[in-house]
Amino acid sequence: MQTETEILQAAAGMLLAWYPAHRRDLPWRQNRNFYTVLVSELMLQQTRVEAVKERYVAFLEKFPTEEELALASEDEVMKAWEGLGYYTRARNLQKAAKTLFAEGTPRTWVGVKRLAGVGDYTAGAISSIALGLKEPAVDGNVLRILTRLLADGSVVDDPAVKKRFTEMLREVYPDETADFCEGLMELGATVCLPNGAPLCDRCPWNTLCRAHLSGEEARYPVRAQKRARRVENLEVFVLTCNGKYALRKRADGLLKGLWEFPNRTPPPCPPPTEGASDRDLAEGASDEDSSCFTEEASDRGLAEGSAGFRILAAKRAKHVFTHVEWQMIGCLAEVAEEDPRFVWVTAEEIRREYAVPSAFKAFSQWVH
Ligand code: SF4
Repeated sequence: MQTETEILQAAAGMLLAWYPAHRRDLPWRQNRNFYTVLVSELMLQQTRVEAVKERYVAFLEKFPTEEELALASEDEVMKAWEGLGYYTRARNLQKAAKTLFAEGTPRTWVGVKRLAGVGDYTAGAISSIALGLKEPAVDGNVLRILTRLLADGSVVDDPAVKKRFTEMLREVYPDETADFCEGLMELGATVCLPNGAPLCDRCPWNTLCRAHLSGEEARYPVRAQKRARRVENLEVFVLTCNGKYALRKRADGLLKGLWEFPNRTPPPCPPPTEGASDRDLAEGASDEDSSCFTEEASDRGLAEGSAGFRILAAKRAKHVFTHVEWQMIGCLAEVAEEDPRFVWVTAEEIRREYAVPSAFKAFSQWVH
């Protein structure tokens, strides 16, 4: 029987033979340097490849080097990041660019790890891809394919398990560090898919993989029970006056520093009428949700002091973050005067200059 190291060694060779012919043609795999790898790796954290594909090229057109990014304003960076979510990454990326600009490119894993926004996985990926270092990058995808390959029933959420797999990979890391690192990512993204649906007939490891040979692919990876997300309720006001819309900068919490439509934690409100639809809400007095808006908004809400507050439309939406879920009810409302607590801008200015997070996308649709 082969040892785990022998299996991993054989798997590394098979992966390197498979990868060049099966790699997807992704924009960040062309013209690579340290800075572009850093940009792509931070963008890809917790974000789908398809979403990153759209934004990566435009981002590099705007900020082609660390110097341009380091010298940009925060608002410019946020605007270029719009739609990618997890905006802390954009701030970290700019901080990292400032470090590169001031101190030059790091040459070791430790130096890469010191950059803002770079954790163990990202440091491994950048070190392998941009610096040619034998530094494994182990995330949930890599743990999935390795636990299947070795039929390893360890709980993959345990940091000690991640550490063990990192060390096992380090032992067999080949000289082709970039292809090996990307090959593992590619196999996890295109073949050894999550949710018990791996495409084993297309896998270069199908003669080696213990889970596949025993028909138990779905048993791996073994996960700890998930924590439930916290639900937060939010009331969102898209206020319009003289063809402009009210925005404010978010002061704290999730999405801090980004532009948003005025919103608040709602006062207690009756539950929605059974069967009520978005259209019902827009129709006003006949619906309890909408009447809650009209009664509360003027005396306790963000429209306080705005003469002629008049609801034009209302709807519900939700946005799911990693640990929090926003349950939102929002209204488009006309007001007679521009409340000085907000910035008042046209739809065109919002599109061009103001980064409004996709959490508010359902309500952005009213702005045109
Ligand atoms: S053979 Fe199947 S389960 Fe095993 S690594 Fe390949 S795709 Fe995953």
